[in-house]
Amino acid sequence: MASGDAAGGMTADQPQVSAALERRGDTLEVKLSGIIDERNALLDLAEELKQSGARRIVIDAGDVRRINSVGVRDWILMMRELESVEDLVLQRCSLAIVVQLNTVHNFRGSARITSVMAPYACPACEAEQVETIDVENAGAEPEALVAANAHTCNACGASVEFDDLPDRYFMFLGSAS
Ligand SMILES: [Zn+2]
Repeated sequence: MASGDAAGGMTADQPQVSAALERRGDTLEVKLSGIIDERNALLDLAEELKQSGARRIVIDAGDVRRINSVGVRDWILMMRELESVEDLVLQRCSLAIVVQLNTVHNFRGSARITSVMAPYACPACEAEQVETIDVENAGAEPEALVAANAHTCNACGASVEFDDLPDRYFMFLGSAS
């Protein structure tokens, strides 16, 4: 995103979401971090991404902690701008992003979703942790997907349990075209 005022401190209207871009051949990877609210610069970002000429654009949304309604609106506009990208990918969608994928029509735009972050809780020590789940070739059966992604607790080693309703958390898989 705009880096022109990098010398200044954070001010009230500066974006709370940052975008780190890394180019590898035909692929441009964009790592989004922070909070997407009315101070976002997603449309500027979309413009920059389009002008990069990259054939594949991979948006890593694993560190998007929160997105509000204005952020959702601008996100959808960004995805609309990126519809012409040959291969648009959303990876490591954070819990906040998954909520939107499940509830907001058009949130994914033309992107294919390769992986999401998912919540787990430990029944033994009550620790919570987040794991990455590959969804691209997973089929649309949430219970099977959760069963195939067993993990152990980082704190005590016990088996952790998926901490949401699979059918609800992976609802977006059913809407894939
Ligand atoms: Zn534990």
